[in-house]
Amino acid sequence: MDTPRLPSLFLSHGSPMLALDDSPAGRFLDGLGPALPRPRAVLVASAHFEAPGPMLASTSGRHATVHDFRGFPPPLYALQYGATGDEGLATRAKALLEQAGFAATRDDTRGLDHGAWVPLRRMYPGIDVPVVALSVDPRRDAAWHWRVGRALAPLRDEGVLVIGSGGFSHNLRELDWRGSGVTPAAWMTGFTDPLRTRLLAGDVAGALDWQHLPQALRNHPSPEHLMPLYVALGAGGEAPHARLLHDSIELGSLALDAFAFDEAA
Ligand code: ZN
Repeated sequence: MDTPRLPSLFLSHGSPMLALDDSPAGRFLDGLGPALPRPRAVLVASAHFEAPGPMLASTSGRHATVHDFRGFPPPLYALQYGATGDEGLATRAKALLEQAGFAATRDDTRGLDHGAWVPLRRMYPGIDVPVVALSVDPRRDAAWHWRVGRALAPLRDEGVLVIGSGGFSHNLRELDWRGSGVTPAAWMTGFTDPLRTRLLAGDVAGALDWQHLPQALRNHPSPEHLMPLYVALGAGGEAPHARLLHDSIELGSLALDAFAFDEAA
């Protein structure tokens, strides 16, 4: 087996403008793909793919590019990311989930939402890595999503890059549109700082207990953007070593932290 074990990743996708902006988070993603061992495929759990129970989305052709956002400039709607699916990966991931007791399902008709295609378009602009998408279930808790990730961890030894794409903080009603240089909101850092500390300390139980952190529900009025973090954390191993790959803040309270998880060296 000459495929190196890949880390799992949590990426904050922020605003859909991440696809176009020459921003710190965008430039980070531009460099991230080339910096990693090349995966044979990507499995991406997206905050914008909600389903009851784990659902996998592949395709026998090329994925449709779903522009699931409103009110953005026309060039954003012209972008396409027609990655191929990967039947072998979808079958294998479903089997791993079923072995772990999950009632996993498939929907190969849905295409890629922007939580999936926006970061992938920056990481792999050649559209030459097959992609399978994975749902989150906001009615389930962090531990459930962590177990989904645990079930999928073997994929990292099979050349698959497991990504959770969400947001480290995500309250769209409290964004500050005055532009760059806005002071980060204290209610955000009061949540993101201790969560980051727990992750970097390898404190899985503490990280799973996010709802008791200060201002948890102000940072995540609904949990779907945080749940991909736990899929990635679980895929990183039983006691993963976390690395902070990137942190920047947009619009005052949109924390764009990115982490890699793998076994301690
Ligand atoms: Zn989003």
